[in-house]
Amino acid sequence: MAEREHEHVRVVVIGSGFGGLGAAVRLRRQGITDFVVLERAGSVGGTWRDNSYPGCACDVPSHLYSFSFAPNPEWPRNFSGQPHIRAYLERVTDTFGLRPHLRFDAEVKSARWNTEELYWEIETAQGPLTADMVVSATGPLSDPQIPDVPGLDSFEGKVFHSARWDHDYDLRGKRVAMIGTGASAIQVVPAIQPTVDRLTVFQRTPPWVMPRADRKITRAEHWLHTKVPATRALRRQLLWGIRELQVSAFTKRPKELGLVQALAKAHMHRAVKDPALRAKLTPDYTIGCKRILLSNSYYPALAKPNVDVVAAGLKEVRGNTLVAADGTETEVDAIIFGTGFHVTDMPIASRVTGANGTTLAEEWKDGMEALRGSSAAGFPNFLTIIGPNTGLGNSSMILMIESQLNYMIDYLRQLDLLGDRIALDARPSAVHAWSAAIQQRMERTVWSTGGCDSWYLDKNGRNTTVWPGTTAEFRKVTRQVDLAEYQVLRAPARTGNESTDKTVEAAA
Ligand SMILES: Cc1cc2nc3c(=O)[nH]c(=O)nc-3n(C[C@H](O)[C@H](O)[C@H](O)COP(=O)(O)OP(=O)(O)OC[C@H]3O[C@@H](n4cnc5c(N)ncnc54)[C@H](O)[C@@H]3O)c2cc1C
Repeated sequence: MAEREHEHVRVVVIGSGFGGLGAAVRLRRQGITDFVVLERAGSVGGTWRDNSYPGCACDVPSHLYSFSFAPNPEWPRNFSGQPHIRAYLERVTDTFGLRPHLRFDAEVKSARWNTEELYWEIETAQGPLTADMVVSATGPLSDPQIPDVPGLDSFEGKVFHSARWDHDYDLRGKRVAMIGTGASAIQVVPAIQPTVDRLTVFQRTPPWVMPRADRKITRAEHWLHTKVPATRALRRQLLWGIRELQVSAFTKRPKELGLVQALAKAHMHRAVKDPALRAKLTPDYTIGCKRILLSNSYYPALAKPNVDVVAAGLKEVRGNTLVAADGTETEVDAIIFGTGFHVTDMPIASRVTGANGTTLAEEWKDGMEALRGSSAAGFPNFLTIIGPNTGLGNSSMILMIESQLNYMIDYLRQLDLLGDRIALDARPSAVHAWSAAIQQRMERTVWSTGGCDSWYLDKNGRNTTVWPGTTAEFRKVTRQVDLAEYQVLRAPARTGNESTDKTVEAAA
């Protein structure tokens, strides 16, 4: 047995959401047990631990929004709520024996590639360790973004982000401002409208909202899915297939979305009778350009007498008065930000330093790019789960995560075949070619042509978040690592005088 000065593992996984837990399951299934999962929080779940706002649920049906290797025949609803998804991830953790690998309160502060030893030096809130490989699954929607609004510091009421809900704050009888009208906000609004005294929704851009085919899953369905697993698999296949068929309308033929847009308009007309309110709520861009939202209760909530919609963003806070960009003034007791996350500026990127001494954030200053959504040039043996251009507008992110995990497993297999103390570094030419091909395909998509500004786009207007194809295509291109796309790095042979080496090994 070998002993080192510091702890060394084969793989460090960062994050314990769907991505990190999925990575842990796949590593164990591959017989790899020499790994740790570093999580900054005190429990698993990622998105589904942090987002506990009233009304929080998935917007892709649960039978598709779950791991293929961990089906749950007992999802309570088509779109199950956050407590059920969180409980599912806790169960996955137990079922697959992941607990011994988990390190909580172990935020990764930095990771630096050691070009001599060919390993990652990682500083965590619980001390240092090294690893041959890092799998970064820190999540695309993990760090909430609160806009820098002048005067916000002087606001005397309550302020929080939807992803960090303050359950100790009682909203009953309060005048509340909801800032933003994205996927989280449209779930929050109907959930809190009956409770609060007044609710003012600050809407910079209206979303397109479609009906949500939500219902309880019956006991008969639970029974059938448990007793005849093929029915569960069939349900998942159907849910998947329908979404795959929708992709070409988003990526190649946005005009086909006209019918969907008409349906969304009719959905609004049914719930909102006031033409002035309807005018405020009608988007001026093609449906699909921003994420299509699903709700049966959002429009009815907006039509209630205790709700106001301000069709402008929040510009300034003066005392307890919120001033919108159109000059509207509203006095409130609490501000809830539903203003999204750091997506195109993922925080982990500024903590990771690669082979050239630059951080991932510096390398990505003109836009994120990574080979097959995973490998950035100059960052050997470092894979990002849900990396650049792996997001989806209409289907389950778990499909993309599982494809990237296939890639991770093949990456480790290739390293094994190549020998000891080997690393793979994506060739800059391969990364650029991959990224250029994606950007070329992006030109025809509704995300580029639909006439909107969305969180899919970075500050340069480039879409570095969404995958412009089907999930089946992504599965195909991530099945295997193509070694021609990588440089193989080999560490110099050890001299035998191991004490001069940074890693001191001694027979135990
Ligand atoms: C409200 C909401 C609803 C959503 N609904 C859907 C849906 O219906 N369908 C869908 O496909 N997608 C949905 N998404 C997207 C969702 O984020 C992904 O589907 C998926 O959960 C991402 O998993 P992840 O493991 O990559 O990231 P996360 O779940 O965000 O997990 C990342 C983890 O990394 C940890 N972490 C971050 N930085 C560090 C660090 N430096 N050190 C240590 N740990 C760190 C975090 O604490 C977190 O636990 C939703 C997102 C939100 C916010």
